[in-house]
Amino acid sequence: MQNQNIKNEIEQLREEINRHNYYYYVLNQPIISDDEYDALIRKLISLEAQYPQFFDENSPTQKVGSDISEKFEKVEHKYRMYSLEDAFSEKEVIEFDNRVKRNLDINDCLAYSVEPKFDGVSVNIIYENGKLKVASTRGDGIIGENITKNIKTLKNLPLVLIVKNPPSFLDVQGEVILTKEEFKKINEYREEIGLALFANPRNAAAGSLKQLDPKETAKRNLKVFVYYIRGIEAYTQPKTQTQSLQILKELGLPVSELNRYCKNIQEAIAYRQTFLKAREELPYEIDGMVFKVDDFSLQEKLSYTSKYPKWAIAFKFPPMQSSTTVEDIIFNVGRTGIVTPVAILKPVKIGGVTISRASLHTFDELFKKDIRIGDYVFVQRAGDVIPEVVSSIPEKRNGKEKHVVKPTNCPVCSSLLQEEGAYLICPNIDCRARIVESLKHFVQKNALNIEGLGDKIIQQLVAKKIVQSVSDIYKLDKNKLLQLDRMGEKLANKILENIEKSKRTTFAKFLYALGIKHVGEFVANKLANNFSLEGLMELKDEEKLMQIEGIGPEIAKSVVAFFKEQRNINTIKNLLENISFIDNKKSTKLLNETFVFTGILGIPRSKAKEIVENLGGVVKDSLSKDTNYLVVGDEPGSKLEKAKKLGILIISEDEFLKLVGNELRD
Ligand SMILES: [Zn+2]
Repeated sequence: MQNQNIKNEIEQLREEINRHNYYYYVLNQPIISDDEYDALIRKLISLEAQYPQFFDENSPTQKVGSDISEKFEKVEHKYRMYSLEDAFSEKEVIEFDNRVKRNLDINDCLAYSVEPKFDGVSVNIIYENGKLKVASTRGDGIIGENITKNIKTLKNLPLVLIVKNPPSFLDVQGEVILTKEEFKKINEYREEIGLALFANPRNAAAGSLKQLDPKETAKRNLKVFVYYIRGIEAYTQPKTQTQSLQILKELGLPVSELNRYCKNIQEAIAYRQTFLKAREELPYEIDGMVFKVDDFSLQEKLSYTSKYPKWAIAFKFPPMQSSTTVEDIIFNVGRTGIVTPVAILKPVKIGGVTISRASLHTFDELFKKDIRIGDYVFVQRAGDVIPEVVSSIPEKRNGKEKHVVKPTNCPVCSSLLQEEGAYLICPNIDCRARIVESLKHFVQKNALNIEGLGDKIIQQLVAKKIVQSVSDIYKLDKNKLLQLDRMGEKLANKILENIEKSKRTTFAKFLYALGIKHVGEFVANKLANNFSLEGLMELKDEEKLMQIEGIGPEIAKSVVAFFKEQRNINTIKNLLENISFIDNKKSTKLLNETFVFTGILGIPRSKAKEIVENLGGVVKDSLSKDTNYLVVGDEPGSKLEKAKKLGILIISEDEFLKLVGNELRD
């Protein structure tokens, strides 16, 4: 009976926290304070720890991953780490500016230091006599976790300050972040090995920073930016925020290039405005700009509330999460035959991009999240990742929502679907959907990069049975292409040209392009670095593959199965009639650079040609305006004069050997 009460209490807490998450993260209108929220989370964590039988992986404690865990030693902050007050409209920011001026009793313009608000993990770092001493997470602002060993692995953070006479003590605040690209890589890898994906770079950064093994943290390529001096001794005392950023820079610490001094609030607002679009181009996520009253003497007068400094405000960007309705749930057949549910949404703008469909990953997830057709849902977008449905909003149901039923037959070819672990699979290797998806995968930028062969063209090619396998791409000619709707001479030529270019690629890209289940770019690179094509085809079992770091049993099984299948071997053989590899182990530094040789060289011509080709370059017999280099040996012919006229770069054999670097040694 008592257990039942505890279970109820836990469930009520979870519900309550979920409701506050909704107010906080989605409506951006929290109805309780951060401290009250933290108290709820703490209570839930302790109950869950005490009664593990009521564990639920969907508990909000699993989601927010409360900042404090038992794994790390605790550190008490010398200065309390505050959070920031948020503003979502210009009006609120103007009000803030007016309030500050009123409190200071001034009428003049107030200058601000405007800085990016990184979407990462706040940290506190202490240097003593120029040496990194302690780093800790924010925790609850008063006590954080000791992550010194982990932070020392961050490549852009100096362990020793670079100045001759460093401050005897320096306490700085900063933010640890993950670039969008690294985030993508980590999630791709996690997907390959079947781990749950991180929802956004911030979660991934937190997860990476708080690895128990610092070596794991090191692999994640985290970055840190520092932005605030909490205390500095035996050194210039900064009088303004702008000056303190300058000092941090001088000490060799990583400071954002986006920081800017603005002489009044209008200038600050205008500067933030420029990032509404531009932030999409940044290599990392920022979720707003922070305005800090620049003058420290004024900051001191303004002081703090119990939660925030009264001299700063974060002017947030529109959220990357929003709510909309699910108009339908359709079933998508992927290139490996996996059938996944996809939500068709009432179009909604998220961070400037209109979203009309979102992934639901697997049926298990769909049912666990209980997403129904007609539901209101939260949708989120993070970087370049496909938008996903976060959760439904059951409070908004009217009873007309429809449950989704798992399909029994392939929506495209009607084959009976098979269950394979968590997946539902169309086993028909000739299923049109599978062929279309394989082609889309094959031509994408990170694979063989055949620009112009878009989704609509691929669908037509498959429907008209012009292309039935990836190797048929190399049998395309102008006549075949011109049979398609909306295909003109110009586009056809462009496509054929790009197909031609795709014939030279790296082994890794080729492996990735084949679309082997669980083999993303990361694994494809690992395979290419450790095996030849013949080696892969000769694999008898998973053993050799699993000796490679990062390749687990699932991937190994899938790779072996792929190369055992005669159809796949035939496809590869057909492809290799057209495709040749640039040596993957060597660089591609001369990719598509054209060389012409003239005169007598010290090394055999054939060797010179091999070197250029190994680096991705091309050797031609005659000069044209597309030639990049003319390499001149002894007794050059008429080519030398011609090259001068065409303005082609002329280099000696020595210069050529320097250009190609160490390649000769092999
Ligand atoms: Zn099918």
